[in-house]
Amino acid sequence: MPDRSLRGMSIGSKSMESDEGVDFAPRFQANYDCPNGHTIILPFSTEAEVPPVWECRCGAEALLRDAERPEMKAGKAPRTHWDMLLERRTVKELEELLEERLELLHAGKLRRSA
Ligand SMILES: [Zn+2]
Repeated sequence: MPDRSLRGMSIGSKSMESDEGVDFAPRFQANYDCPNGHTIILPFSTEAEVPPVWECRCGAEALLRDAERPEMKAGKAPRTHWDMLLERRTVKELEELLEERLELLHAGKLRRSA
């Protein structure tokens, strides 16, 4: 009977297996240091936004221990075009250049390139 063979399939156990896989999502432990000497360890998904401060059971604010965050790097802020410009020219020089350009522009001598 075709009806019987269908019921024999174990669909239930298959979906259980895929559910279990969710537990293997990337996680890491965030450590919070309380000023009163307590340590709080919380598991976070690597995609989750980790709060920098967590309220300890004693009521104090425990601070996130940065070293435990894999994506935290002691890098500096990315340089802007302005930062790079200032490495080559002083603000005074830039002011003079701008003044020069504006004069040419107002005199109609500045041709638009492209
Ligand atoms: Zn505490």
